[in-house]
Amino acid sequence: MEILKDKRLVDEKVIYSVLRDHGREGVPSVYTICKHGKPACTHRSMIFYSNRKTIKVLFGKPCQGGYKEIGFA
Ligand SMILES: [Zn+2]
Repeated sequence: MEILKDKRLVDEKVIYSVLRDHGREGVPSVYTICKHGKPACTHRSMIFYSNRKTIKVLFGKPCQGGYKEIGFA
């Protein structure tokens, strides 16, 4: 992982905020990252943590629920 040696870590809260994003207006739609509506709607969201061999999974919309951590080692 030499290529990542000098890279800054991304704060987990930033990742959550991106996945829960509803655009500049803060209004969810089929065009926002957290999608609401038809025909596109977010049903699941996952974050992979390769260093600690776990994933965080959320069933539903990221703005409406919490992530559960699951190990896969
Ligand atoms: Zn949402």
